[in-house]
Amino acid sequence: MKSYFKPITRRKFLKKGVTGGAVMATLPVWKLFSFSSPPSDFYVNPAVNLSKETLEKLIEIGLQKGGEFTEVYVEYNVGNRISLEENKIYGAGRGVDMGVGIRVLHGEKTGYAYCDDLSFDKLKQTAEIASYIAAEKEMRKPVGLKSSKVPSYYMVKVSPDTIVPQDKAKLLWKANSVGRDYDKKVNQVNVGFSDINKKIIIANSAGNWVEDVQTISRLIVSISAIEGDKRSRGYAYKGGTLGYENYDLKVAEELAKDAGRMAMAMLPAEDAPAGEYPIVMAKGHCGTFFHEAIGHSLESDGIRKKTSCFWDKKEKMIASEITSLADDGTVPGARGTINVDDEGTPAQNTVLIKNGKCINFIFDRLNAGLMKEKLTGNGRRESYQHYPLPRMTNTYLMAGKDDPEDIVKSVKKGIYISRIGGGNVTSVTGRFVFSVPEGYLIENGKVTKPLKGIQLMGSGPEVLKNIVMVGPDLEIWGGGTCGKSGQAKPCSDGNPTLKVSKITIGGAKV
Ligand SMILES: [Zn+2]
Repeated sequence: MKSYFKPITRRKFLKKGVTGGAVMATLPVWKLFSFSSPPSDFYVNPAVNLSKETLEKLIEIGLQKGGEFTEVYVEYNVGNRISLEENKIYGAGRGVDMGVGIRVLHGEKTGYAYCDDLSFDKLKQTAEIASYIAAEKEMRKPVGLKSSKVPSYYMVKVSPDTIVPQDKAKLLWKANSVGRDYDKKVNQVNVGFSDINKKIIIANSAGNWVEDVQTISRLIVSISAIEGDKRSRGYAYKGGTLGYENYDLKVAEELAKDAGRMAMAMLPAEDAPAGEYPIVMAKGHCGTFFHEAIGHSLESDGIRKKTSCFWDKKEKMIASEITSLADDGTVPGARGTINVDDEGTPAQNTVLIKNGKCINFIFDRLNAGLMKEKLTGNGRRESYQHYPLPRMTNTYLMAGKDDPEDIVKSVKKGIYISRIGGGNVTSVTGRFVFSVPEGYLIENGKVTKPLKGIQLMGSGPEVLKNIVMVGPDLEIWGGGTCGKSGQAKPCSDGNPTLKVSKITIGGAKV
C-alpha cells in the first residue's frame, strides 16, 4: 500500500520522530528556526563508522553458532520536514537516528538484533543475540571483507540537509501565493518540503563491504477549491533522489499551477457512472496501479510461500503480448532509486514480465538463496531496526508502440484516468480497489467531462490480460512510500499511455 500526498501533520511527524528510534530527537520549531547556518550534525557524519576489523569481528561473532550468513548494517539518518498550511509555517522538524542491525541467516530462519549504541560491547552483544538463531557445532568461516565501489544513480549536488529551513520556507511561500492567486475559488493551500539523508554501511560474511550516502527529497503542493456545495482538490509534487539544486521558486510556481489546474478541473466534476468500461490511463500518473496490483504479487516472499497469485507462473503467459513490466532501481534521480539495496547488492533493472510472459521475480537475499535464484538488488529495509524484505524500487509498465492519440480515439465510451489514487490490494488473489482523484469521461474518442467518485475494481491478473494498447511515452513520475509488513520504504513507478479493454467502475452512486 502506498500513501502519496498526505501532507504529514506536525503532530504526526513529531510522533514518528519519537517512535522512529531511541536516539531520534526532534527539535521544536522555534529552535529549528534559530539556525542561521547549516546544522552541525550534517548527515555525512564521519563519526558514524566502524573499522574493517570491527565489522569482521562482528561478522565472526554472528557466525559463532553455525549460522550460514551474517550481515552488519550501519545507518545514520537525518530527516527534515517543513510545512505550510493556512498561510503560515505550520510545522518543521528535524530527526536524527542512528544504529546498527545484525542479521544471521540459517535456512529459512532469521536472527535479527539491533542497537543504537556504537560501543564495541553493545555491538558484540547484538551480534551474539542474532547468532542464537543457529545451534550447530561447526562454525562457518567468513570471507575477508573486500570493499567495493557503488555505482551512482542519484542526482544530488547540494544536500538538502545543508539548506537552512528559512530557505526552504521561501519555496513554500512561493507555492502558497501562486496557489492562492490561481483562482478565487481556491480556499486552501498546503505545501511541504521534506528530505531524508542517510549514510549506510553494509558488510557481510560473503566478503561484501559497501557504503552509500542516500538522499530523498520532495516538494508537495495540495490545493483545495470550493464553489457552492462543490469541493475539489488538486495536488502536484516533485521528488526523488534529488539534491536541493533541483528545487527553486520556478519549480514551486509550476507545482502550484499544476495543483491549481487539477483542483479547478475537478471542481465541476459529475458523479461517475457505474459499470464495465474501457479505461485509458495517462502516461506517468498511473504507475501506482502496476506497483500495487501487480508488483507486490511478484515479490519473492509471496512466491516462495505460495501466497501470491503468481507463485506458479514463472515462464508462463500472465499478460497480453504487448505487456512488459520492469522494476528498475537505476533510474537516475527517481524516488525508488538506489545505488545498492539494503543488503549491499547493486541496484539493477529487472524485467519481470516480458511480452506477457512472467520471467522473473523481485528478490532479496533470503528468498533468492532459498529459491536458488539470482539476487535482483531488491533487499530493502526501513531502517536498522528492520530486517530486509523483497521490495520494489521503481516499477513501471514498459513502453509500447501505439500512438497515444489513437489510444484515446479508439474508445467510444470509457474512462480517462489522469491520476490514480490510493489502492487496496490483496496479493493472494490480486483483487483491487483504487480511487481516482482525476478522471474524465471519454465520449466518441474524446476526453470530455470530469468525473468524481471513480472507483476501479477488479483483479491484477485479469487487467494484465486486458491491456490492449500501449504507447511509447513511458514516464516515471513522483512516487510515494510503500508499506509492507510494517516497514515504510520510498519507491516510484511509471507507465506509458495505455488502454485496458474493460475494468469495472464502482461509480460515485454505488
Ligand atoms: Zn506498495
